Amino acid sequence: MTSLTMPPLDAQNQSKQTIALIILGPPGAGKGTQARILSKTLQLPHISTGDFLRSSMKEGTELGKTAKRYMDQGKLVPDALILDLLFARVAQQDCQKGYILDGFPRTLAQAKAYDQRLGKETKTIAINLSLSNEIIVDRLSKRLTCKECNTPYHLTFSPPKKERICDACESSLVQRSDDEEEVIKNRLAVYKEQTFPLIHYYFEKKNLKELSCNQPVDKVLKEILDSLREIYPSLQEG
Ligand SMILES: [Zn+2]
Repeated sequence: MTSLTMPPLDAQNQSKQTIALIILGPPGAGKGTQARILSKTLQLPHISTGDFLRSSMKEGTELGKTAKRYMDQGKLVPDALILDLLFARVAQQDCQKGYILDGFPRTLAQAKAYDQRLGKETKTIAINLSLSNEIIVDRLSKRLTCKECNTPYHLTFSPPKKERICDACESSLVQRSDDEEEVIKNRLAVYKEQTFPLIHYYFEKKNLKELSCNQPVDKVLKEILDSLREIYPSLQEG
C-alpha cells in the first residue's frame, strides 16, 4: 500500500511552513482510509475530529470536560470549543510540519473560523474526494458489522468467509441503521447542503483539489500525492 515512498517534509529544505491537509468527501468515499495512508506516507499526524474529541474528554482537560458536558446532554459541541480543542492539538510538537484533518471542517462557518485563527505559516490544501450518489448508496448499503465485536465487512471489498457470519467471533452480521438506503439518501442530502458552500470556498481560495474516488485506493492515493506536488513542488522526491 505504501509503495510510494515520500521523504518526510522536513527533508525538503523547506521553510518552516506547516501544511494542513483537509480531506473532504461524502460518506463512503473512503476519507478515513486515505487519511490514514497519507498520514503514514507523508509522516503527518492524522487528526480525526471524533478521535480527538474522545481523547480530550478522556484526558480530562478543562476543554475536554466542557465538551463532555455538551455531549452528555446530547447537544452538539459548539464550533468555538471544537476550534479550541483543535488548536490545542495542532500546537503539539508532532504537528509542526503539518497534519491531516478528517471530519473537520464540516461547514462553511467552521472553515472561516478556522482560517481566522490560522497563522500565516500554515498552508491549507483541501482535497475533495468525489463520488456519484449511486456509487455511494451501493457502497454503503453493502456494509455489514458484527453485532458482537463490531468488525466491519463489505459485501464487495471485504466479504465474510461465511454468509452474514463474523470471521472473528461467528456472531451474525447486521446492517447499521444509518446504512439503509433511505437513510443514506437523507445523509447525502444533508452532506451536500453543508459541504457545497465549503467546497466552493476552497475553490475560490484556490486551495482545492478534486479527485474522483471511484477507483482503487492506491490510484486515489497516487492522484492525491501528484496533486500535492503540483501545489507544493518541494514535495518532489529526491
Ligand atoms: Zn464478531
